[in-house]
Amino acid sequence: MHRLSGTGDSALIRRINTAIVLECIRNESPLSRARISERTGLNKATVSSLVASLIDAGLVSEIGTGESSGGRKPVLLLFNAGAGHAIGIDVGVNYIRGLLADLAGNPVARREIRIARRGPDEVLPLLYDAIGELIAEAPPSRYGIVGIGVGVSGIVDGSGTVLFAPNLEWRNVPLGKLIAERFQLPCVVDNEANAGAAGELAYGAGRGFQDQIYVSVGIGIGTGIIINRELYRGKSGSSGELGHMSVEADGRRCSCGNLGCWELYASEKSLLEHGEPYASFEAATAAAEGGDEQAARLLGAIGRYLGIGIANIVNIFNPEAVILGNRVCIAERFVRGAIEREIATRTQSYNRAGLRLLFAELGEHSAVRGAAGYAISRFFDSLNGPSAG
Ligand SMILES: [Zn+2]
Repeated sequence: MHRLSGTGDSALIRRINTAIVLECIRNESPLSRARISERTGLNKATVSSLVASLIDAGLVSEIGTGESSGGRKPVLLLFNAGAGHAIGIDVGVNYIRGLLADLAGNPVARREIRIARRGPDEVLPLLYDAIGELIAEAPPSRYGIVGIGVGVSGIVDGSGTVLFAPNLEWRNVPLGKLIAERFQLPCVVDNEANAGAAGELAYGAGRGFQDQIYVSVGIGIGTGIIINRELYRGKSGSSGELGHMSVEADGRRCSCGNLGCWELYASEKSLLEHGEPYASFEAATAAAEGGDEQAARLLGAIGRYLGIGIANIVNIFNPEAVILGNRVCIAERFVRGAIEREIATRTQSYNRAGLRLLFAELGEHSAVRGAAGYAISRFFDSLNGPSAG
């Protein structure tokens, strides 16, 4: 530990400790001051002083009383999730999904728009409308709208520019800057699979795991790699492009330029070419449920290719869990068996020991929840940052 002293440093220590106390209340609310002291190792006088400033800031309030083994019952502290709101947006290949969430990430209002044309000139006005409508629906609160988070199926750089989104046909769209300027709010933009991984980690199937790989399967495939409960982003932020790992040496040509990419065989893209009634996970699943053997076979083939790719992932990362998310969740019943078979035959036994294969708890909402979560995290970081206090 660094030893810090002097007035500037004590202000810094106070900010750090305030962040620790607030995080404790956000995670475990309702709880008493004594419990915070136990959990954080901060002494009771310090906790009381920090809690008083969080109450002044409107982020924490006192409620009723908790259990006590005798004597005076302790007052419990509650995180004020309604002290502000955040917007989450998921821009998919043929839809825009929007969410207004409170500061605990709970959904307050939703929007879903189908998009027929994919270019930025067509999509951006619809995106702005959705954000504007969600902002208008926010209940009055102390901090108002604290920010906007966006997940896009494409490669995004650290400044929020979408460098390349092959399935949307976008190149170099400065999405974060455009949104931030238009709404005068901070905006975080990330890859859709990273946002989905963050959503499942915070609010869904990934809550109990340290190391997990989220595999988003829609019209393409993207992955979000979580190591030690942090997203692994790589040197330039574009890790997890596993949809473009080669699974067929002389396979079909992909829009990325490679041959035999995983997503050509294991995503909704491979259903599209079969036409109706098999052209989407919904349609093929409905047909298979109605006894159509061809539909069940097509989904089984997707499951097999998903399993082949996931076996590679398991051998590389030895994760605690692989979470399948996005549209493939619709077809779980028809793909799970084939995925499990491939994992069982293609992975090293010590790498798959204890592995959990899960489907997203938030279904198709993982990315939009994660995107809102980005805006919320950024807001709390800004409260603790050097410009605050
Ligand atoms: Zn490719």
